[in-house]
Amino acid sequence: ARSDLAGSLRSLDGASYGRYKSLSGSWSVGGRRSGAELDPSTAVQLEVLRVQADPFAPPSRVRLTLSDAGIPADLVADPDRRRALAGFLLRGLRRALRGTPVHVDAGGPEVLDRTAGTVDSDGVVSVEVGVPFPGPKRRILGREAATLLAETLPAAAREALCWSSVDQAAARAFVETVEDAVALRAALAERGLVAFVADGAVLPRRSGVDDRPLDGATPFSGPSSLQVTLPTPHAGEVTGLGVPEGVTLIVGGGYHGKSTLLRAIEAGVYDHVPGDGREQVVTRPDAVKLRAEDGRAVIHDDVSAFVAHLPSGEPTDDFSTTNASGSTSQAASTVEAVEAGADVLLIDEDTSATNMMIRDARMQQLIATEPLVPFVERVRPLHAEHGVSTVLVMGGSGDYLGVADTVIMMDAYRASDVTARAHEIAAAGPSRTVEHTGFPAVTPRVVDPASLDPTAKGKRRVTARGADKLSFGEDDIDLSAVEQITDRSQVAGIGRALALLGDHVLDGTITLAEGLDLLDAELDRRGLEALLDGRSEDLARPRRHEIAAALNRLRSMRLRRT
Ligand code: ADP
Ligand code: MG
Repeated sequence: ARSDLAGSLRSLDGASYGRYKSLSGSWSVGGRRSGAELDPSTAVQLEVLRVQADPFAPPSRVRLTLSDAGIPADLVADPDRRRALAGFLLRGLRRALRGTPVHVDAGGPEVLDRTAGTVDSDGVVSVEVGVPFPGPKRRILGREAATLLAETLPAAAREALCWSSVDQAAARAFVETVEDAVALRAALAERGLVAFVADGAVLPRRSGVDDRPLDGATPFSGPSSLQVTLPTPHAGEVTGLGVPEGVTLIVGGGYHGKSTLLRAIEAGVYDHVPGDGREQVVTRPDAVKLRAEDGRAVIHDDVSAFVAHLPSGEPTDDFSTTNASGSTSQAASTVEAVEAGADVLLIDEDTSATNMMIRDARMQQLIATEPLVPFVERVRPLHAEHGVSTVLVMGGSGDYLGVADTVIMMDAYRASDVTARAHEIAAAGPSRTVEHTGFPAVTPRVVDPASLDPTAKGKRRVTARGADKLSFGEDDIDLSAVEQITDRSQVAGIGRALALLGDHVLDGTITLAEGLDLLDAELDRRGLEALLDGRSEDLARPRRHEIAAALNRLRSMRLRRT
């Protein structure tokens, strides 16, 4: 590693912008000087990974490595602790660099594996940040760059990443919060629960674009009949609402907190930072939010469970369209989720296609030739035959009262158990005629790996465009209806995962679900390294369900007929 980064930058002052490229490689920076010598114990390894071509290009990428950060061994003992600790350190680094142009991809309230910050099992801390190299008029601003790269950045790294200077109690609390959430989530399946919402949790957010907890919110409280107590390694016994397997309905008047509860359950597949309010709201890892999404593409889906026939005469067990309706899009997303291994479906009336969800007694009388099989007829067999539970927000129709195992009412943000009363009302009728029974098995699909080629005009192109769009080769994948995606870096991770599926995992004989199993195993084994493949980029780990959702919306995806 070279040692005089500041001097090199100053000597480049005024040179053409492209000469920044000469900085590529490793540097040792920021060691306190004892005499004239760099003190290696306080030096930070700085690696210039990528230099932007011009001042307007995406920022250059710089890695900082602290091999002697002094992290206690117990905090790096397993992958969850390392992920949590990295999440804590990265957030501290982002704070330390606030007001500078340096970009730290620390993420939102979810604690995900991120390439921006890692701690390995030896306690080596490594972060990767985006640094816009200063150069108005395409000339190198050497002094300014020297201050930024050789002083500000390493000083912030030492302050935010060395154990001796961080708030150690806060760091431990962060790791413990994540570990408790992991333990709570792991306890769900054996207790027959799909989700757990701790009493006292704060569910509402400040706004649709502000993920922080709502000030002055009513803390969650659940009914005693559904109360469960779960052990955690650090917070002791935690009491709250256990949402059981089967069919659960969330009912209540408009604006009483139904959607807020469901959204907290959706988010419960991820761990949350201390102070978020949802630290102890956890959901089974394979819970998938579904919604209507008219206009989406559907590629060879077996939607026969929900669409008996089509007016065009097309087969419904091999259904494709470039422009699905609200109901067919939701039917497609439902069977796709089951195909990818979802064991819990989360549905909100606010974002559902009414004709996909319900069909009441009077409409049954009027329309004899309805091709749509409403979800109300499939929701029970979906659980009984396929082990897939559903949590459904439904304030507007009573058709589900009779098919629900559990009915939770939200009243002024408080949850109560109204199952018995709901069943009484359902038994008193008027009732609809049940026309369909069972849930036919969905034909597994075998994706042609050649169709997952992100090469556009000869160049590989996989680019996240915010949190809801992915450019993949010639295609733009619209992910705005895939609601459990957290941020742009997770979209980037999804893009890389699709490419990996096409390059190395799918072989034209295994099913999509088998491919996702292999991909998950690879990610567990190698971490995000498996997705990076030698490149360097801000990625966050995606779930298999969001990877599958992107694949299902990739218009150029083809199936291999076997
Ligand atoms: P619903 O789906 O029943 O119509 P929402 O979940 O959309 O109701 O909630 C309505 C409003 O109430 C939202 O603005 C939400 O932020 C707010 N809200 C939800 N839960 C709480 C709570 N526990 N405390 C305070 N406000 C809440
Ligand atoms: Mg609502």
